[in-house]
Amino acid sequence: MSKTITICDGIYAVGGPNLSRSEDAYVYLVDAKSCLVLIDAGVGYGNDKIEKNIRSLGSEPAQVWHIIATHCHIDHIGGLHLWRDKYGSKIIAHELDRAGIEGKNNELTAASMYGVDYRPVMLDTILSGEHNQIRLGEMEFKVLHTPGHTPGSISVYIDTPEGRVLFGQDIHGPFSPSWDSDMVEWRRSMRKLLDLEADFLCEGHAGIYRGEEIREYIEGYLRRYSSS
Ligand SMILES: [Zn+2]
Ligand SMILES: [Zn+2]
Repeated sequence: MSKTITICDGIYAVGGPNLSRSEDAYVYLVDAKSCLVLIDAGVGYGNDKIEKNIRSLGSEPAQVWHIIATHCHIDHIGGLHLWRDKYGSKIIAHELDRAGIEGKNNELTAASMYGVDYRPVMLDTILSGEHNQIRLGEMEFKVLHTPGHTPGSISVYIDTPEGRVLFGQDIHGPFSPSWDSDMVEWRRSMRKLLDLEADFLCEGHAGIYRGEEIREYIEGYLRRYSSS
């Protein structure tokens, strides 16, 4: 049975712990009219289900021309190679998480924590700096560098007729010196996300928040990690 969650018109969750595979972070699909864009790709083991979920929406997985990897953890990037090999999907990520994604430093991917043998991919588009805006299909994707969880963590947002949709994966952490987490940077990043005043927050593991819930969710974590 296929399972998806509709966030708003043309934006869906197509993978995640209850949608594809228990180890998967949420995988979001954006219908950018002339192509499809994925935000993250899950751990890889649930890819058949993710493809099935995309088909259930009336879309073709082969139309996934672009995947934005929000950071280099295995539960978000393990499936990248499947998309690239099968459909030639192009991978976009920040330069500060490149070493993990491209297989130069496996510890950064946390793959051993998940017992997964990571198959690296080369990036097609390497983002740098604080703000990037990329046009994919017919849509503008704004990308904000939000380091903390990892040095190259990014948050993506798009403005739709129904409001601002923010893909803020792994806001909640966890944090570890083995992948260079930085709590000072993280707090600064969370304030940047609050300033976006998003209408929808698509989180990496916690699911989807709307309106005022978003501020409560992020501020809750800021309080929890106020002194670490
Ligand atoms: Zn994650
Ligand atoms: Zn992570």
